[in-house]
Order: sequence, then structure tokens, then C-alpha cells
Amino acid sequence: MSAYATSLERRLEALEAASGGDSGCDRCSGTLVIVSNVITGEIHSASWRGEDMPEEEFHERRAETRCSRCGRKLDPDEAPVIKVGGRRSA
Ligand SMILES: [Zn+2]
Repeated sequence: MSAYATSLERRLEALEAASGGDSGCDRCSGTLVIVSNVITGEIHSASWRGEDMPEEEFHERRAETRCSRCGRKLDPDEAPVIKVGGRRSA
């Protein structure tokens, strides 16, 4: 588990460095992490800026075209997203 978390953290840092972090507010400039089944695409969990996000909120976030806080135009296809394939561990 620790090795997994470490590699995920590195990918997060790389993504955030690449995106510059100079556009958008706290609400919309983070990185979305999706843990999903690589075979079925089923979402196991999603987190935003390191905090768990309910699947319901995740879908709302993905459907937004504009940040409700700063008004930045959002393109779900361009948003930094890390998809982590994995099997159920429990
Ligand atoms: Zn914003």
C-alpha cells in the first residue's frame, strides 16, 4: 500500500507541476484522482486534492462547464485526471 501511495503521489506532483497551478482557484485547479476498474470502467472511488469525493459529487464536477467560484471555463477533457486501475481489495 505504501509503495502504491508513493507512486501515486509522484504522479500527482508531476501533474500539478505541469499544469502550472497559475490558473483557476482552489476549487477548480486541483487534480482529480479516479480509482476505477480498468476492465469495466466502474468507479471505485474518486478524490479531489487528496480528499475523498462522493461519486455523486464527482459526476457533478465532471459535468460543470464553468467553475462556480471563479468562473473559469472548465473542460472536463482537459482537466488533470489520474485514473488508477485496480481490483477490489476488500
Ligand atoms: Zn475556480
